[in-house]
Amino acid sequence: MKLSVPFIPNEEYTTFLKNEIQNIESVYFSLDSDQVLDSRMRCNPATLQELSKGLHHLKSVKAYGLLNTRFIHPGLYHDTSFLNQILDKLEYLVAHSHLTGIVFSDAYFLNALSGTKRDILACLEAVPGINCMIDSSQKAMAMFEIIEQSGFKFPGKIVLDRSLNRDIRQLEKTGNDIRKKFPPIRIELLANEGCIYHCPFKFVHDAQISFSNTGSVANKTFQTNHAIGCHVYFFNTPEKFFKSPFIRPEDIDAYAAIADTIKLCGRTLGINFLCRCICAYIQKSFEGNLLELMDATHWLSDHYHIKNKKLDPGFFNMVTNCTKACKECSICRNLFLETAINKPFTLKPYKDFL
Ligand code: SF4
Repeated sequence: MKLSVPFIPNEEYTTFLKNEIQNIESVYFSLDSDQVLDSRMRCNPATLQELSKGLHHLKSVKAYGLLNTRFIHPGLYHDTSFLNQILDKLEYLVAHSHLTGIVFSDAYFLNALSGTKRDILACLEAVPGINCMIDSSQKAMAMFEIIEQSGFKFPGKIVLDRSLNRDIRQLEKTGNDIRKKFPPIRIELLANEGCIYHCPFKFVHDAQISFSNTGSVANKTFQTNHAIGCHVYFFNTPEKFFKSPFIRPEDIDAYAAIADTIKLCGRTLGINFLCRCICAYIQKSFEGNLLELMDATHWLSDHYHIKNKKLDPGFFNMVTNCTKACKECSICRNLFLETAINKPFTLKPYKDFL
């Protein structure tokens, strides 16, 4: 299956993607803006000129700009100058390179952009982001209705909620129902987030990021997760990582009948991380520490080395057929004891953060 991957207009990374172009379906990227409009914290967004120059080398892949913040400051929904500035940027990318569409999470924001009635809307697909958590065809249809009314182009793909990666029956039903009603649409699955299964912190985590991106408060999401969120959860019960709905590179073929493409995330972790992940999912094999392929649980790789290859051959069947009633089950705990090594604390070389 082809991959959907983050794009950072770094020369080395662009050349890497160009060399792997036959395995890439689409790229996605943040837009340079005074306001942070995507779902992560600001991390040196590229200028429009840099993006356009980089995308020029990747003409055969689809390109999506991220407008997938959970929310923006409410005053901005009615700020026509702000909305037109965003659409000017999108128009620039359409004119100077190629842009397939946008990824959004906030339907108010979509309608606010729609209210400008700019011609450019009809040229751009509006793709509901992974954090819309679409886990049923009914939810997908509610989202499609809003998109159809907005004047944006109907999306060419839909990314289903990561929880379905571990519920194959519901995944098949959702995917088949959507494909039946909207035949050309392609189904995408997120492989390497590594977050808690049905994460109870997720909505608020996203909201806290957007809140700090408004400039109203400092970003405290890392500290909050470290003190009372997912870091504590995984630190106390690291075996629960196996319950996280990630897809191992070795298992992507098991989804080939249900999905068309695999999305990889982790754009804030730098190009070394991205190249490692992309290679692993292209080769459908990874020899190292499984945690080093994950985005949300990447930090856990400082503490544990999970020998990915030791999870063969039964991992996929085990985690997709279990009850998820972990109180009565010790399978993941035993597997963790067999495959994970506790690592001594070491300081990382600076280059590992680039
Ligand atoms: S039910 Fe057992 S196998 Fe399934 S996630 Fe929980 S501990 Fe793992």
